[in-house]
Amino acid sequence: MPAVEAFGLSDVGRVRSRNEDSYALVEEQGLFVVADGMGGHGNGDVASQIAVGAIVEKYRQSAGEVGSDGELAVAERLQSAFAHAHERIREAGDRDGALRGMGTTVIAIVIDGEAAIIGHVGDSRAYALRGSTLTQLTEDHSWVHEQVAAGHLSVAQARDHPFKSVVTRALGGEQAVEVDLRRVRLQPGDLLVLCSDGLTTMLTDEEIGRLLSAGGGVEERSTRLVAAANERGGADNITVILLAVRGEGDD
Ligand code: CA
Repeated sequence: MPAVEAFGLSDVGRVRSRNEDSYALVEEQGLFVVADGMGGHGNGDVASQIAVGAIVEKYRQSAGEVGSDGELAVAERLQSAFAHAHERIREAGDRDGALRGMGTTVIAIVIDGEAAIIGHVGDSRAYALRGSTLTQLTEDHSWVHEQVAAGHLSVAQARDHPFKSVVTRALGGEQAVEVDLRRVRLQPGDLLVLCSDGLTTMLTDEEIGRLLSAGGGVEERSTRLVAAANERGGADNITVILLAVRGEGDD
């Protein structure tokens, strides 16, 4: 079973006064999460912290839980962990008016044997670097992405658009939560990236691929990405988790 070497870091960036991103590495569960909070009168950090905590807690608790078709699959456990987080954020907003309206994106990956199960809501992303090819594994739930998909904006126009941060799905909002889930087969040597949009609004996919391909361990490469986003302006909080899939014979 491919194990991964993991490293994560989060940086406030160069413009914002507080970091509203949260992340967790739960190595014994193979669970890795990044959340990017927003709204709630500047308390987006509360939403992202609740989301990460609730997802980790619920995912852990659901180990061995049995559904109608036998033991719950990883994807079902991840789905119910997201739903739990959604409710927890809404409850917190109902209890405290200062938190009302807060929400958060979430990208989560579970390493499950030879595969990665990916769940996401919003515009935080997962990528895979295989060889020197970087592939985005998630589709943003954002207004600009919808415009690009419909042919109304080019990718370049979307990058500079004033509405580029508007997400169409988030945990904690009024609507029922809808989680995108997918399963990706892993190969030894793959490098998985989870990140908030503070990375991807500062750097293009091509630049991210080039920075990752320059070698080094997961810590060195994560640090390099965050430094590059800050050099580009660091307009938003920047969070990155890197997962290096070990090859056979690696320690
Ligand atoms: Ca952000």
